[in-house]
Amino acid sequence: MEIDTVGVVGAGVMGSDIAFVTARAGKQVVVCDVAQEALDQADARIAHLTDRALERGRLDAATADALRGRITTTDDDTVLADCDLVIEAVGERMDLKRTVFRRLDALLAPGALLASNTSGLSISEIAGCTARPESVVGIHFFNPAAVMRLVEVIEGDRTTPGTLDAAEAFVREIGKTPVRVRECPGFLVNRILVRAMAESYRHATTTGVDPAAVDAAVAAAGPAPMGPFALGDLIGLDTMGHVQRDLEDAYGERFTDAGTITAQVAHGRLGRKNGLGFLAPGAADPVIGDDARTAAERYYLGAVDEALRCDEEGIAARSDIDTAMCLGAGWEHGPLAWADAAGATQILARMQELAETAGTRFTPKALLARRAADGGALLDDADLDPGS
Ligand code: NAD
Repeated sequence: MEIDTVGVVGAGVMGSDIAFVTARAGKQVVVCDVAQEALDQADARIAHLTDRALERGRLDAATADALRGRITTTDDDTVLADCDLVIEAVGERMDLKRTVFRRLDALLAPGALLASNTSGLSISEIAGCTARPESVVGIHFFNPAAVMRLVEVIEGDRTTPGTLDAAEAFVREIGKTPVRVRECPGFLVNRILVRAMAESYRHATTTGVDPAAVDAAVAAAGPAPMGPFALGDLIGLDTMGHVQRDLEDAYGERFTDAGTITAQVAHGRLGRKNGLGFLAPGAADPVIGDDARTAAERYYLGAVDEALRCDEEGIAARSDIDTAMCLGAGWEHGPLAWADAAGATQILARMQELAETAGTRFTPKALLARRAADGGALLDDADLDPGS
């Protein structure tokens, strides 16, 4: 289906950037918010992004004018009625999302697509309040959406292949890379990343190892652009705590961080946003000892284990799992490529040891055992039994 006119509901951090990238691709965009202040800030953010693109020579003056002319901001949601696709980006609360989707379902023509930018709420539950669950899909941008190339396209229980195809085509049209993800708590990138972070947090907390040493060991041992402690400080430890607890509720103890984040937040340490976090700015270079190296290994093996679980559950294709970690989390290469570089036999042996010493969550997954036996690569998609 052709998507020419796009609505964005919620003109906050995500909505503003989504509106900009969509208009940049030549679409008409209507941005709708209940708060005039948010609309004013969205206008300012879009102007800033357009000016920056002009300065960097990515747009010429005429194209920038045309881009600005394609975006309308308003508090009148009836103008959304003509949209082919509406992307909802209001706050992360199910009741709020369902109120918006009920309204959109009543306003939009049959056949129009309804998308949510939720970071982790159930697309199926959101879709359930509409009369068109087959046309409801997750289009999950990463922050800052003007820059980040990855978009997870989330399939709810009743999302049709046609809706997924249309959502993916739209994502490509606006210059982003779609990765198709079957709905699960945390979706794909956040699920793998938070599992990896939780593994190193719990090891660090039980051994008392210096967080800066763990981060340095993670940088030395693999493809992540920053360690788990710097990343937690960057995201904000209050936000991080919500996400970690939600995933621990959903998946159980393998997502526990042994109270690491809660202890920080209880002492008013929220990360970079208040200048107090795991890491002390300007500290001397840490010494990487055995405990730091172990925490770093747990980080990467946790990511590999979670990636293999996503493969087993059919959440995403193996090559897409790696692509998503590169484009959504900035890894130089993905966890499966990292494991392949080390060799399936080596990773299998480490997982077996950890299953005995750290917990059965590391019990090797069937694909890993098969690849260790047949000498093939985890990323080899020419697998006749892709679900295993
Ligand atoms: P935000 O708080 O910056 O913006 C939300 C906006 O929604 C506000 O301007 C608010 O006035 C508006 N709003 C609330 N109710 C509304 C309604 N009924 N109709 C129209 N507008 C309404 O939030 P955000 O950070 O942009 O997040 C939006 C969504 O994107 C959330 O689901 C969030 O989980 C998801 N997300 C956020 C990030 C991130 O890093 N911020 C990343 C990926 C996904």
